[in-house]
Amino acid sequence: MFIDSEEDTWNMCPAALKSALEEYKNKPVKAIIPVHLYGMPAKINEIQQIANEYNIPVVEDAAEALGSKFKNQSCGTFGEMAALSFNGNKIITTSGGGALVSKHKTYIDQARFLATQARDEAPHYQHSQIGYNYRMSNIVAGIGRGQMEVIDLRVEQRRANNQRYRQFFSGIEGIAFQKEPNSDYFSNYWLTAILIDPTLTGGVSREDVRLKLEKENIESRPLWKPMHKQPVYKGANFFGSGVCEKLFEQGLCLPSGSNLSNEDFDRIFSALGKIFNV
Ligand SMILES: *Cc1c(COP(=O)(O)O)cnc(C)c1O
Repeated sequence: MFIDSEEDTWNMCPAALKSALEEYKNKPVKAIIPVHLYGMPAKINEIQQIANEYNIPVVEDAAEALGSKFKNQSCGTFGEMAALSFNGNKIITTSGGGALVSKHKTYIDQARFLATQARDEAPHYQHSQIGYNYRMSNIVAGIGRGQMEVIDLRVEQRRANNQRYRQFFSGIEGIAFQKEPNSDYFSNYWLTAILIDPTLTGGVSREDVRLKLEKENIESRPLWKPMHKQPVYKGANFFGSGVCEKLFEQGLCLPSGSNLSNEDFDRIFSALGKIFNV
């Protein structure tokens, strides 16, 4: 089942989660998997509270949120387990791969066992269960260790991008940013994401902006399509009022690379300026 987003952080809505769990009271729910979207911490304390109430483990999808914090605690350290991604598009990268985070050593040991072909202790290859070849190679891991040294700088750069976009849009009606609801939230702002409300922009829609930027060879992307709207999950249960559908309709991820130069921003702002007549 899928849970709606809330308006504050655009992440899993605790109220919708609660109503889903009420409805699933007599059915087994294996895990609650909140995402920290674009690096913005979810309302993780509320989600954790509900999880405790129903005795269901939380597994964080922190793929986008390395360096993000809630109440000074790192995203990826709240749940029983968390996944980080070091895919090529993430804030730090090993070209592909990721990491599993857990405070439970037995989970990590078991994951490592399964990810390295589930070999029994024997001098020959012997298997009592099916394993996988999912481990990161030593070369890739070496790149990752180097990347870890620059994570703070990357967070600074992404946050600085976000700040520049905020300044640019400050006088423009109908643009709302994904933003930290209060000082408990610290986002790495992996991507800067905005909502474009055509009723306030004089008719300019998300797609207008995306396509016009594309014409100038500037890539931007709609927000993630809600999972329950994915063809593969057609018919899956969904709980909520459809906040995520509005986010998908109006949301745009702006160019957010750590290496955006002043010239890149000049080009982006000049293109956006033409669209919004500023
Ligand atoms: C990138 C990403 C993933 C997948 O990570 P991979 O390392 O590409 O498999 C999962 N969840 C979210 C939210 C992501 O952004």
